[in-house]
Amino acid sequence: MSESKNFLRTIVEEDLKSGKNKEIVTRFPPEPNGFPHIGHAKSIFINFGIARDYNGHCNLRMDDTNPTKEDTKYVEALKDAVEWLGYEWDGKVRFTSDYFSQIHDYAVELIKMGKAYVDSTDEEEMRELRGTVTEAGKRSKYAKRSIKENLELFERMKKGEFKDGEHVLRAKIDMSAANMKMRDPLMYRIRNVHHFRTGDAWAIYPMYDFAHCLSDYIEGVSHSICTLEFENNRDIYNWVLDTLGLTPSRPYQHEFARLGINYTVMSKRKLLELVEGGQVDGWDDPRLPTIAGYKRKGYTPASILNFCDSVGVAKANSMVDVSQLEFCIRDDLNKKVPRVMCVLDPLKVTLINYEGSEEINAPYYPHDVPKEGERKLPFSSEIYIERDDFNENPPKGYFRLTPEQPVRLRHGYIITCKEVIKDENGNSIEIKAEYSPESKSGSDTSGIKVKSAIHWVDATTAKTVEVRLYDRLFSKEAPEGVDDLNPDSLKVIKNALIEPAVITDKPDERFQFERQGYFYADPVDYTDAKPVFNKIVGLKDSWGKKTKIAEPAKKPQVKKVQVDGEVVAMSEEEQARFDKYTTEFGLNSEVANILARDEQLTSFFEDALAVLNSPINLANIVVGEVARELKEKQVDELKFTAKQIAELVKLIDDKTISNKIAKQVFEEMVKSGDNSSKIVKAKGLVQISDPAVISPIIDEVIAKNPDNVAKFKAGNTKLLGFFVGQVLKATGGKANPKVVNQLVHEKLK
Ligand code: ATP
Ligand code: MG
Repeated sequence: MSESKNFLRTIVEEDLKSGKNKEIVTRFPPEPNGFPHIGHAKSIFINFGIARDYNGHCNLRMDDTNPTKEDTKYVEALKDAVEWLGYEWDGKVRFTSDYFSQIHDYAVELIKMGKAYVDSTDEEEMRELRGTVTEAGKRSKYAKRSIKENLELFERMKKGEFKDGEHVLRAKIDMSAANMKMRDPLMYRIRNVHHFRTGDAWAIYPMYDFAHCLSDYIEGVSHSICTLEFENNRDIYNWVLDTLGLTPSRPYQHEFARLGINYTVMSKRKLLELVEGGQVDGWDDPRLPTIAGYKRKGYTPASILNFCDSVGVAKANSMVDVSQLEFCIRDDLNKKVPRVMCVLDPLKVTLINYEGSEEINAPYYPHDVPKEGERKLPFSSEIYIERDDFNENPPKGYFRLTPEQPVRLRHGYIITCKEVIKDENGNSIEIKAEYSPESKSGSDTSGIKVKSAIHWVDATTAKTVEVRLYDRLFSKEAPEGVDDLNPDSLKVIKNALIEPAVITDKPDERFQFERQGYFYADPVDYTDAKPVFNKIVGLKDSWGKKTKIAEPAKKPQVKKVQVDGEVVAMSEEEQARFDKYTTEFGLNSEVANILARDEQLTSFFEDALAVLNSPINLANIVVGEVARELKEKQVDELKFTAKQIAELVKLIDDKTISNKIAKQVFEEMVKSGDNSSKIVKAKGLVQISDPAVISPIIDEVIAKNPDNVAKFKAGNTKLLGFFVGQVLKATGGKANPKVVNQLVHEKLK
């Protein structure tokens, strides 16, 4: 895959071009204190991706300077994650502890230069002496120690002559530095503990800030890429290397924004709590955002890498919607995996007019003609369907089996309900039905109309399997703790029924269970005696905002086959359109789904597309705006044409107007039928992208809101949205939001 260009890659290219670096060397430096998560995947993707694409190399280095929390099992998990994602580290796995001697020698050198001292102040006093953001700190009285005394004390610290916390080694920098991190940062601390690699050899351990830059230097790293929270540490990074004169070909630190995803927690510490607290079943529990969890759940490396690419590399932290990750896995599996049938909650159906048995040839890849492979579906008079696919008192819009409404068995015949058998509590336990002999899929001459096809299995040959349905681990978007856990994050179905070929042919490890979602043969618990499948992801996003765009699909006039909570199988034609829209045009599956299933919208969209080749923006307007109009009117009653919509979208593509303004222009077009360019001109709606125009407006907003400015500077970064919103409002929505965002960000830095 080719990764998008981002600011880190731009830096790398410039450094190569200017001759600053001859070779690009990066590193991925995790601390082995937990299993890696999807945030680490992003770091792996960036570091290994850059090294690979610029013919350099990337080291895998365990940052093992905190012996109390580290363990070899985490080292193995980290190696596993990198390999599984398809990357190779340079040479052997490296460890910061490999460099403990060298790092120690550099510390001695700094002491000899008078640039480091042993401090014996206790922790609390040290904190007080450090000062505050507005107040300079005071240097500890121990800073006056002679070089000789410092050398002796440091040697004794190393030999283990002192208790934990009795002394520390500090860099002598500047107690009044504006950057608090530069106020004589700690370099070494005493820890009388066993280290998983160096054993009891050391009683002192270097701090991250001292060890990291030196390890990078020792390894010849050119670009030390880390996350934003280390921005203020960059000054120490530079101070250490510059002061020691390690400058000829020294590494430089660059920061990017951490990846955050909603409905989960991400730090290893919080994940460890869940694992140790038994809220999940180990580090590879499929509900965790760990690489091991995704791997076990059935995610593919490609889907994770695509996701990392799609979220981009930015300088501002943001929260990514988990549905974006789910989209990536769905997108990867859609064409690749066989489609089979599995009934999760079986209801027996007896076909009273069918005798004997037969085998129906059914393709594994029904919607991907070039990919071959089929299996035989056994069929006889006893089958099982999903309990949900029969309803005696169907709500409006229910398209499956009812006492009045026949339904098609996927790949098979049309059946009609004749009798419902119930238990003493009134629950349906069996359906007696008739099949139509002339209705076989592919050679149907029955003339019977059905509204949907349902999945099923043959009773005598079906295999019993366990199916594990996973849902989000937390029910809150930004969970705070175990109170926010989703009680329904795991549902185990012990007796699901699956068509036999899945178990005997084993055509793959991943499947689409038709109408249910994507599933994966559990790599740990699956046995031939007891097959177990994990749900990877559903067929469409059933959470959150995105489902809202599906609303136009429920309009009465244009006949739709969308029923709450399920996807009715598409016709072959619709499916072909859907596939084309998602793969060729890159539409997201929700938009493609709405378009593909609606002939009016499809033809409108394609007419516009013939005028302007801009499928994504066109599809968004057609699904988001045009669909609303078509709910009440026929195409020939509209005041605007497909060509005019194409012209409107052209204005967005040219950045003449923003998406938001486009909606306003559209409303006008609906009323007047005027051309978009005329409306834009008449109303003065041209987008403002010129920083010189936007800048003074921002200054005004900043001047009017001193309280919010102070809060923002104190760390409430959520207020960025407030400022951007105010500026947009002040320009009547005409300012280019991207430009505003960037300018506000710069001004408030
Ligand atoms: P955690 O808080 O989960 O333990 P960390 O930042 O302490 O994370 P490390 O093991 O020290 O994790 O990190 C290894 C590398 O991965 C670092 O360069 C770090 O910046 C990066 N990294 C960690 N979390 C994320 C994230 N959420 N997004 C992007 N990169 C991350
Ligand atoms: Mg950490």
